[in-house]
Amino acid sequence: MTRLFGTNGVRGVVNEDMNMTLAGDLGRAIGTWLKGGKVAIGTDSRISNQMLKSAVASGLMSTGISVVDLGEVPTPAVQYYVRANTDMGVVITASHNPPEFNGIKVVAGDGTELLKDIETDIEDIYFSKEFNIPSWKEVGSMTKDDPLRSYHKAVLDAVDKELTKKAKLKVVIDCANGVGGLSTPYLLRKLGCQVITLNAQLDGTFPGHESEPTEKNLRDLKKMVVNVGADLGIAHDGDSDRAIFFDEKGSFLHGDKTLTLMAKKMVKEHGGGTVVTPVSSSSSVEDVVKEYGGELVYTAVGSPIVARTMIELGAIFGGEENGGLIFADHQYCRDAPMTAAKIVELIAKEERSLSQIIDELPKYALDKRGVPCPDELKEELMNKLKEAFSEQKYDDIDGLKILYPDGWVLIRPSGTEPKYRIYSQAGTVERAKELGDKHLVEVKKALKSFK
Ligand code: MG
Repeated sequence: MTRLFGTNGVRGVVNEDMNMTLAGDLGRAIGTWLKGGKVAIGTDSRISNQMLKSAVASGLMSTGISVVDLGEVPTPAVQYYVRANTDMGVVITASHNPPEFNGIKVVAGDGTELLKDIETDIEDIYFSKEFNIPSWKEVGSMTKDDPLRSYHKAVLDAVDKELTKKAKLKVVIDCANGVGGLSTPYLLRKLGCQVITLNAQLDGTFPGHESEPTEKNLRDLKKMVVNVGADLGIAHDGDSDRAIFFDEKGSFLHGDKTLTLMAKKMVKEHGGGTVVTPVSSSSSVEDVVKEYGGELVYTAVGSPIVARTMIELGAIFGGEENGGLIFADHQYCRDAPMTAAKIVELIAKEERSLSQIIDELPKYALDKRGVPCPDELKEELMNKLKEAFSEQKYDDIDGLKILYPDGWVLIRPSGTEPKYRIYSQAGTVERAKELGDKHLVEVKKALKSFK
């Protein structure tokens, strides 16, 4: 069956595959599944937000659902609001995709992204077109609310403000013309930081740069951090669920660094506890968690899976290497403004520069590569590889992660492209590359056997 939901909601090009009819019918499918109640809708800063929001809201109301319009707000603020106030949530966003894209993401009543089983139920209703159509008296209505006040209070309450106010850190924030501009600059000023903003005005054409927080897109931020002598630089993606950092020297910090750093801080502060991360994350996370008496649990790739596993296990912290960090005491979803506030608190507490703090973390080299593989061969290839590596130590939580005494190799099919990805990690660049080369040959050999 054709799938509607991808790894992060439904995405597409506006007025092509992501259009009014789809949005309306998806609203009707969600409303039919929910069978009454209240749904909050928030959006990022894209041009097509009003159009798609109105369509989803109409669909929902036609099935008898009441809708709360939250306007343009960070995704984590919608999730925080949903948990406290409504039965479900919808976020209109395409996160880091180019401006012509938009998407629809559904949030469960506890504020966490939906897992596949409920998505599949909603998809079934969407494709069957068997919507709940009540009488005219039962059609839902729409009200407005502002989720930011309570969300901001929650973030500020989670941070030691005395400490951050004393530290008076200088911070440059690049909001990518997305909704992060509504929260992070305000929050950090409240924490006593001197804040300089880049691309903080909401603009769905993304005039500053593309909304994916890559090193290439963040050249202005890098320069600004160095030029003004800032203590750190912060960047968000378009809907502000991911945060990426630069140290005071203007060095780009890969997401695995901040994930490791924060895992260390959380386990240290809690005197242990469980941390959850996907199998693709750097071993540095496991190293620090174990060092401070915590337990690390690996999951398949995808933030909803990480969040759900955290709830099941009562974990204290979790996250992905793309800058999406989840603080259990706050809420079970990726939260960029919260991450920014927590990193500021950490630097204030350490009374050292961010580069010095990062330098203490375990260091690994990662090698990434891809092999073309038609979608219809993906499953067969995985079976073949498991056979080929049956003598080795591996885990198959997601793809095939082959474990070596001095590193690992993760071979997994891409969820979005006709491709297999090979990630290898080791102590040195040379060894990581060597592992990558060796397994690339194996994957190609297995592929050839199909012809
Ligand atoms: Mg995002």
